[in-house]
Amino acid sequence: MLFLCCTPIILSSRLDPLYRGFVPWPRSLHGVVRMVYLSSIPKTSGPQMPEIITYSLRASHNNSDEYYQTISAFSTEVLAHAFQQVPELLGSFQSWNEHTPHISPRDREETVFELLSLGVLWRVYTPSALASRAGARRFLTWLAVLRKRSDILKPGVDLLRGWLGGLLSLHKKPNHPAVPPTLKNMDVLLEWLRASGEFSEDVKRLKAWREFFASLSPGAVSPALQEAIDLAGWFESHSLERLGEYTGHVETFLSNTHPRYHWREDNLFTGRQRVEYHLNMLGSELLNRSLRAGFLETTGKIVIVPPCLKAQTDEECQAKSTPYGERCANCTPGCRVNQVTRLGEKHGFQVFMIPDQLKVFSGDRPELSPGHSVGLVGVSCPLTNASGGWEIKSLGVPAQGLLLDYCGCSYHWHKVGIPTDINLNQLLRLMDDSP
Ligand code: SF4
Repeated sequence: MLFLCCTPIILSSRLDPLYRGFVPWPRSLHGVVRMVYLSSIPKTSGPQMPEIITYSLRASHNNSDEYYQTISAFSTEVLAHAFQQVPELLGSFQSWNEHTPHISPRDREETVFELLSLGVLWRVYTPSALASRAGARRFLTWLAVLRKRSDILKPGVDLLRGWLGGLLSLHKKPNHPAVPPTLKNMDVLLEWLRASGEFSEDVKRLKAWREFFASLSPGAVSPALQEAIDLAGWFESHSLERLGEYTGHVETFLSNTHPRYHWREDNLFTGRQRVEYHLNMLGSELLNRSLRAGFLETTGKIVIVPPCLKAQTDEECQAKSTPYGERCANCTPGCRVNQVTRLGEKHGFQVFMIPDQLKVFSGDRPELSPGHSVGLVGVSCPLTNASGGWEIKSLGVPAQGLLLDYCGCSYHWHKVGIPTDINLNQLLRLMDDSP
C-alpha cells in the first residue's frame, strides 16, 4: 500500500530505496536546469498530460479516478482467484500462522499478497540469484546494512554498491531453465534479495513463509512452492490484461533508457519489471484494506508526501524543517504540496514532506493529535508503497497508501525532475470515515 519517493535521506525501507540518490550534477546547477526545462514546457489552458517515464495511473485520461476503480475490482478478483486456485496452501499457512505465536498474524489480504510476492520474485529473480556467488551476496549484504546505518558513509557505499553490482553481475538476468522449487533455492533467493538492498521488508515477510514451508513434510515442500510460482504465472498474465494500460512505458524505459544505469546503485530499483509494478499496485490496495479499520480509529491524520511533488527546486522551496518532516510555507500557489496542505486545513489533516525516520510517528503523539493516536497516509510511487505499508505496520502506526500518478524525480527517473502529482479525490476518500 503506501509510500514515498525522492530525497537523499535515510528512511526506513519504503522511503530509503527511493531517496538514495544518484544526483547527476550539483544541486545549484540542477535547480537552474530544472527551471529552464520546466519553463520550456508549453503552457496551455487545458489539463496537461505529464511526461510518462514508466507508469501513469492516468493512462489516456485526465485523472486517475478510473485507475482506482480498476485496482479495487482487480484486487477483489485476485483474492477470489487465489483462494480458488490454491485453497489448501493458503488455508494451511493461515492455520500455521494462528498456531505460531512468534510470527505476526496475517489476514487474508496480507496472506495472498505475500504468497504472490514470493511467486513473482521467484519468477523474476531466482535465475539471477542462482547465477551470483555466495561471497558476493554476503559482501553486498554487509554493504547494504552499512548504508542503512551511516548517513555519512552512504554516498560512498552507494557508489561502491553500483560498481560492485555491475561487476559481480548482481543485476544480470541470465536465461535460465526453470529453477527447481526447493527450500535450498528459496534460501539463495532470500539471500540475494537481502544483498540487493531493495527488498528488506519483502525478505522479512517471506522468511515466515520459509519457516512455514520448512514445517511441511519433505515431500510437500516442492509442490507447495510450485503452487506459489504457478499462481504468480496466472497473476502475471491477468495483471497485464487488467493493469497493462497503466504501465505501457515500463518496457520502453527498460529497453531504451535503463541500459545507461548499469553502474548505478539504483540499477535494480529502476530496472523493475512490469509485473512488479502490477504486484505493488495490488499490494498497496490490499494493505489499505487490511489496515483500514485501524487507520479509521486514529484521532489525528497525517499525510507524508515526497519532495518530488513540489513545484520548486530544493533551493527555492521555503518549507520549514520539523521533527516530522518539512512543512510547506505556502510560497507557490500552484505547488501541489501547498494545495494538499490547504486541503488538509479544510479537512483536518496535516501534511509533511518525508521525515528522517518513520518511527517519529509511532507511540502516543499528543503534539500531533488531540486523541494522541496518529494515522498516516503515505504517498509514493508503486514500487515502494506496499513495502512501506509493511514497515509502518511493524512500527504500530495505522496507515493507508496513496500512489503518485506518475514518477518524475531527478534522483532516479528524470534528468532534471518533473513535479509529480496525486489524485486528490482518492486522498479525500482515504480520509473519509467509511470503511
Ligand atoms: S509551496 Fe510549499 S512545498 Fe511548494 S515550493 Fe513552496 S514551500 Fe515548498
